Amino acid sequence: MVGDAGMDVIACSTGAEGLDVLERKRWEICLLDRGLPDFDGIEICRRIKADARFDTRRVIMVSGYDSLDARLEALNLGADDYITKPFHPAEVLARVNASRRAVEMQQQLLEMAQQLEELSEHDHMTGIFNRRRFTTALDRAFEHSNRYGRPLSVALIDIDGFKRINDSYGHPAGDAVLVEVARRFSGTVRATDFLARYGGDEFVVLLPETQLHDALSFGEKLRSVVVATPVPVADGAPLPVTISVGTASLAHTQFNSTAEMIAAADQALYRAKRNGRNRVEGERRRAPRARTAERPQAQV
Ligand code: GH3
Ligand code: MG
Repeated sequence: MVGDAGMDVIACSTGAEGLDVLERKRWEICLLDRGLPDFDGIEICRRIKADARFDTRRVIMVSGYDSLDARLEALNLGADDYITKPFHPAEVLARVNASRRAVEMQQQLLEMAQQLEELSEHDHMTGIFNRRRFTTALDRAFEHSNRYGRPLSVALIDIDGFKRINDSYGHPAGDAVLVEVARRFSGTVRATDFLARYGGDEFVVLLPETQLHDALSFGEKLRSVVVATPVPVADGAPLPVTISVGTASLAHTQFNSTAEMIAAADQALYRAKRNGRNRVEGERRRAPRARTAERPQAQV
């Protein structure tokens, strides 16, 4: 009956067999008899509903008990529907179809939620992570590094003279440059690094387990991968593009917050711009605080 309606059906004659199938096979709807030879079906319903893996699955209890108490017990345990014996096959099919629609709708909602999460974490133009997702990654990495005394670096990257590219060749050419630069960065970072578009023509990379010295080499690598080959655009000759990079490192300086660390990288980036662009600068270690108050008093 249900099989004739285009659904795959696995029939089980005992509760133990049913539990084994629920574990091993992909399934969406469980038609569950209460009067099984080895189990009260309600116990199997309870186990299914207590298992988070089966959150989107539907359970339809089939039972000879038609009392209000029996129905309530099953529904309160999470059964999604209740059919009493004797039943008409057409009613079972109609209820299975209703459950199928509910399962499909739930799966669509889940997919939509996943797509939304994907959208909320990615920059739609370049496809890499966005600033919001980067902030979460930085918070986590910063805490980890502080707790375990591990090095951590960030590199802030800004395209040089990007306004001029937009003004001279048009916004679509500017967009093409952003996409290509992101693509080159993606091919350069390691799997453990975290690349994101920080906003406008700014990018950022989080470099776990990386000291300032290696962060500077990494910045050089990014710089050369951009400067080495002019960027092709739709109309006209490929555009020469350069970037400036500023880095900051947690083991090098004891930052009190992620904001302080980003500010240090930003200052280094500013210095790279001021010193001529197309270059990499590291943060300047701040001078240690004067500790005059802790000096021992002179003995008289
Ligand atoms: P500098 O070397 O000092 O960085 O000069 P710049 O011209 O690159 O200056 P700045 O970094 O401040 O310029 C950023 C420009 O990026 C300004 C803005 O119009 C442009 N921009 C921001 N987002 C986009 C985008 O999504 N597409 C395009 N085409 N341009 C963008
Ligand atoms: Mg710029």
